[in-house]
Amino acid sequence: MIALRKLLVFAAVLLALGLSACEQGRPGKAETDNRLKIVTTIAPLYSFTKNIAGDSVVLENLLPSGVGPHEYSLSPEDARKIADADMLIKNGAGLEEWMNKMIGSANEFRADSQELVLVDTSEGVNIIDNDPHIWLSLRNAVIQVMNIKAALVEADPGHADEYEKNAADYIKRLEDLDREITESVNRWRTKELITFHSAFSYFAKDYGLKQSAVIEGPPEAQPSPSHIAEIMDIIQRAGTRVIFSEPDASHKIMDSIAGDLVLRIYSLDTLETGDHGQGWYISSMRANLETLNKALGDK
Ligand SMILES: [Zn+2]
Repeated sequence: MIALRKLLVFAAVLLALGLSACEQGRPGKAETDNRLKIVTTIAPLYSFTKNIAGDSVVLENLLPSGVGPHEYSLSPEDARKIADADMLIKNGAGLEEWMNKMIGSANEFRADSQELVLVDTSEGVNIIDNDPHIWLSLRNAVIQVMNIKAALVEADPGHADEYEKNAADYIKRLEDLDREITESVNRWRTKELITFHSAFSYFAKDYGLKQSAVIEGPPEAQPSPSHIAEIMDIIQRAGTRVIFSEPDASHKIMDSIAGDLVLRIYSLDTLETGDHGQGWYISSMRANLETLNKALGDK
């Protein structure tokens, strides 16, 4: 099996290099591991898919842990992974612009005659201002899970019952957490969020919060002194005592604003990268809720 897969990868590389026109199918697939091979782009999608499909599929995430999705560039290894997959699950909403060119010609790169199934999980999500951070809303996450489940059921009907049941169980857990956040928000003394990057619009919308200011202007640019002055003005007018950074943000700007205005800094995870575990999405969203409770709680 390993030898066969190596051969298929090699064929994919040859095709990618334009050295061979291999018209072979995938002969080893039926007699060895006939599970669907799926590649997800970002960690939340890996988590969603793992909860729906468990070990009934072979699942891999494209972006390595610690690498952000905004300005990624595909490596030859990534191209091989995609060429060898049956299904590619992306966030959509403009997040994976770096992948478009590759996808356009993906089917030419493939090691077998099957077409790559491309799943855009943002279908049916109400996109705000071209903002790709849809997964930070649990309500959007439910739509993304439904989209992934539908694609799995269609591509692998033999496991349809399992996918339906797992998706329903997982959606229930997402909805429970959504309700828990709604109840918590009612206890917070402020509904203003000052964050480092503009990732929390969907989260804010779900719970009637206001993302009053974003310290870093999109996309990932260094803020200018006039932008910082404007933010300090907004913070003072809002009367908030806290600002939200994120795990791998540059803290210098936050530190200087917080120092000048005597604010406390808390860290919110944008879930753009992380360890690709089954429980990771819900536990990370829950950790954000605990941070928000600490920062904004106690009226
Ligand atoms: Zn982002």
